[in-house]
Amino acid sequence: MAATQKLYYEQPLARSFTARVCEVDPARARVALDATAFYPEGGGQPADRGVLHFAGADAAVLDVHEQAGVIWHQLDTLPPNAAAGDKVQGEVDWARRLDHMQQHTGEHILSGTLHRLFGAENVGFHIGTEAVRMDTDIPLSWQQLQLAEQQANAVIWADAPVNISWPEPAALAALTYRSKKELEGPVRIVEIPGGDCCACCGTHLAHAGQVGMIKILTAEHYKGGMRLSVVCGGRALQEYEAMRSRQQTIGALLSAKPEETAHAVQRLSDEKAALDYNYYGLCQQLFEQLAAQAAQTPNTPAIYTLPGLSPAWLARLANRLAAAVPNVVCAALSETDRGTGYCIASAAQDVRPLIKALNAAGTGRGGGKPGSCQGSCAGASPQQVEEFLRQTLQS
Ligand SMILES: [Zn+2]
Repeated sequence: MAATQKLYYEQPLARSFTARVCEVDPARARVALDATAFYPEGGGQPADRGVLHFAGADAAVLDVHEQAGVIWHQLDTLPPNAAAGDKVQGEVDWARRLDHMQQHTGEHILSGTLHRLFGAENVGFHIGTEAVRMDTDIPLSWQQLQLAEQQANAVIWADAPVNISWPEPAALAALTYRSKKELEGPVRIVEIPGGDCCACCGTHLAHAGQVGMIKILTAEHYKGGMRLSVVCGGRALQEYEAMRSRQQTIGALLSAKPEETAHAVQRLSDEKAALDYNYYGLCQQLFEQLAAQAAQTPNTPAIYTLPGLSPAWLARLANRLAAAVPNVVCAALSETDRGTGYCIASAAQDVRPLIKALNAAGTGRGGGKPGSCQGSCAGASPQQVEEFLRQTLQS
């Protein structure tokens, strides 16, 4: 089959086109046309979507792939009478394509700028549904990234043209351009004066100004370089609105103006630290009193239920009691939203058989060392756990 004519290269701003069907693949519900404006997946840019209007029937284009120069359009359903020679009209989902071209052209400008400023190579690129992922081969500081971001946006605002060319071999050999791999045959060069010069097979805007703006959202160290999350154009605007909305929600929760939320969080954090300190002191004092009370009947199991104790505090109480009455089994219990949390300890006895019996009786789970076990019972209240422990320890 002859190679498909690539209208997305010849007329990159064409949203609709007419073509003829070259081949129908009923098994996979796909068609090849003599020409198409649908960009197939490639070079980090996702495939276009849209609609093909057949005579009397429409089919949604779900995916587009190139195989040996032939571009296949994956359809939701193949019209029953579709056949080679049919005339079709295609309509590209333009909002999606424009978004991809904004992200892709913006990525060129940022990658070219990082290369020019710091010699960084772009070693990975993917337009995701939320943000654009870009990987560099060298580590970069946030200051360096900010400088590149400023200069890349300056290229956008200077509205440089995006020039596409297929240089002859001699001219290509004399040209300095970025490329991810060794290329064979004719090479398509994308040049944005002051921004980038790169071999690329994707679709691009006509002018840098159409990118609007570039914003780096996050940068993390990845495989010896950086992994950047970047948004351009419409996505940058959406991200700004999402951030504003989050700030408003956080501000309402803190009863603070958006510009004062960090200060309000610091104040809450300080208050919590002070409360933690008080809680620690009160618990210590209470545990000492309970230990003294338990010591008055040193041969009776010491079992106490207190509200709201975390596993760490349950363990502190049980171990404090076990130190006070070493000859018996001690238990600290606390009601949880799913039953009862427990810590059972003894200075003289292996409590693990008791824990096993408790877990079996109270739908519990947990374990630990011979002298101290922790867990929870989903099917029992603290009163029921205490009753079970007293009965079992008496028998
Ligand atoms: Zn490109």
